[in-house]
Amino acid sequence: MYDVIIVGAGPAGLTSAIYTRRAEKKTLVLEAMSYGGQIINTLSIDNYPVAPHISGFDFATKLYEQAKNLGTEIVFEEVVHIQDHNTYKEVITNKNTYQTKTIILATGAKNRKLNLPNEKEFIGKGVSYCATCDGSFYRGKEVAIQGGGNTALEDALYLSDIAKKVYLIHRRDTFRADETLIRQLHLKENIELICNSMVTKLNGDEALESIVVTNHNGVTKTIAVAGLFIAIGRVPETENFNQLIHTDASGYIVAGEDCHTNVDGIYVAGDSRTKSVRQLVTATSDGAVAAIEAIRYLN
Ligand code: NAP
Repeated sequence: MYDVIIVGAGPAGLTSAIYTRRAEKKTLVLEAMSYGGQIINTLSIDNYPVAPHISGFDFATKLYEQAKNLGTEIVFEEVVHIQDHNTYKEVITNKNTYQTKTIILATGAKNRKLNLPNEKEFIGKGVSYCATCDGSFYRGKEVAIQGGGNTALEDALYLSDIAKKVYLIHRRDTFRADETLIRQLHLKENIELICNSMVTKLNGDEALESIVVTNHNGVTKTIAVAGLFIAIGRVPETENFNQLIHTDASGYIVAGEDCHTNVDGIYVAGDSRTKSVRQLVTATSDGAVAAIEAIRYLN
């Protein structure tokens, strides 16, 4: 019987583990993929207090080691279901069933897909969701990005230094990205904006060769590109819990700043919680709050 099972080894989940282990609670972290969450793909974190310019990988690795060194058990299994039995809870993974007194859900969010017919087949063969991970494969080539938020604009600026030309395709004609990024975007000569438009088709045999872009009036054009970076936001990874845990219409787990879900002893931390600011600093903050609330419940 664990005191706390934390689902997700991103910044929120690993921060929770630091707090629960420092309170000497028997803690298990379950992670489906690899530690670090989304931040692992960030080349340089410039807005986290006291650690300017640290890479996402270094940040995640230091956090992982800190949690491990405090005695956190970390197991790489996918959680498929959770159950509440009042006095204890069960966490069912693809391999095992674990019992625990409290649960902290820190599963974050995954990349939203365009849901084009052959999008999945082209992943790694021209389609990517991470410019900082895959951008260097497109040195000197022409690439496109779909999206109009901070990620899409940061990707466009990053890729414009590597690729020959970058098409930034956005479904509206105004961006939801920060003003500073929009200003920088307009200074780049090799970025072409295609507004009020969507990528509607992917062409190619073995790898992506071109995309079809359709504008609001239904007019289409084909653009030859070697890469398409899809940066249209994220969706929370909560579908395995939503029978027990209340989520909003977009799938985010409903909880206030105290990180309490609708079930006693189950908390949520990080990007999968309903909130207005999803940043690294708010994820680690949630991790601390959820852990302290779980410790209070246990005591
Ligand atoms: P986002 O802010 O949600 O923006 C998503 C963009 O994709 C929007 O422009 C949206 O269009 C578009 N979009 C959404 N669904 C679409 C669809 N089905 N088809 C076509 N376009 C679609 O996502 P994000 O840029 O990944 O950012 C996520 C969060 O991380 C934000 O809070 C952001 O501020 C933060 N972030 C911060 C930084 C930083 O501080 N440096 C860097 C990256 C991200 P509409 O505008 O028309 O809705």
